[in-house]
Amino acid sequence: MTHDRDSLDARRGRQRSTVRRRRLSALSIVAAAIVLVAVVVAVAGGGSGNQSSAVTKVGGSGTGSAKDPKATAPTTTNGDKKSKAGVIDTSVARLAGGSPAPDKPVPILMYHVIGDPPSGAPYPDLYVSPDNFASQMTALDKKGYVAVTEKEVYDAWHDGANLPDKPIVISFDDGYQGIYKRALPVMAKLGWPGVLNLELKVLGQPEQGGLSPAQVKGLIDAGWEIASHTINHSDLTQVDSATVRSELVDSKAEIKRRFGVEANFFCYPAGKFDDAAVAAVEAAGYLGATTVDYGLARKDMPFTLSRIRINGSDGVDTFEARIDDATA
Ligand SMILES: [Zn+2]
Repeated sequence: MTHDRDSLDARRGRQRSTVRRRRLSALSIVAAAIVLVAVVVAVAGGGSGNQSSAVTKVGGSGTGSAKDPKATAPTTTNGDKKSKAGVIDTSVARLAGGSPAPDKPVPILMYHVIGDPPSGAPYPDLYVSPDNFASQMTALDKKGYVAVTEKEVYDAWHDGANLPDKPIVISFDDGYQGIYKRALPVMAKLGWPGVLNLELKVLGQPEQGGLSPAQVKGLIDAGWEIASHTINHSDLTQVDSATVRSELVDSKAEIKRRFGVEANFFCYPAGKFDDAAVAAVEAAGYLGATTVDYGLARKDMPFTLSRIRINGSDGVDTFEARIDDATA
């Protein structure tokens, strides 16, 4: 994807002025809420392929859809809560059978593109086919794994919150459309959230395969966690400290401004970090950061959390062996 800093800055300027205008009257806040609901309805009801069913199928019952005038925060059949704006909280059902896990190491899987590689793709192993991905999620479910977010792991490590017996984080780097079109429907059927490590410059570049802002909102509505993967995918060990700070602080603020969610975690571009980068991530207010180092994520290494890379050439047998090896 090309460098697109100028248009990002232009969008930021527009967004700031929008924020100021919205402060002018309560009426405009109501109008904004109506727009938000309209976006949710559009995401849930429109579009191509199977992503439309993904948003409405979570929870199974379909109660509390935007069409229900009485909907406030209804509870679905499996205990999931769905807010007025359509955001689904699957944590009640997922964490219900769990127990406190203050020191438990947790596997974090690392995916990039969910889709078939085009012929001649320079890095075909970054592409996991949709069928293969679906088989891998089914295999995890059969093994008793339950997907959790990085914040849920943090809360278990530090605040006494429950984790499932076999927690696993499923993370996706950069922000390709297959995450929304292919991974979301598979995971929604299991009631599982993913973690999107979002490189902000991909927004607004859907012609190059990047997620659109509406698709990111769709992931958030399905309970996904958004982590920062910088604005420009800078190697933090190769740029000056002002750029490091901007990539960390401005991306966190931009995710909050655009989507109203806190990016509590960070993911190092290309897995590159050094002592200065680690200190800068912590200073920017993140709770932790993921690398491409192999292994389980451990509480005593919060800013250099290891992950397990899943390659396109891994069949489901290799995938299962990789998980078994990492967790043995
Ligand atoms: Zn990346």
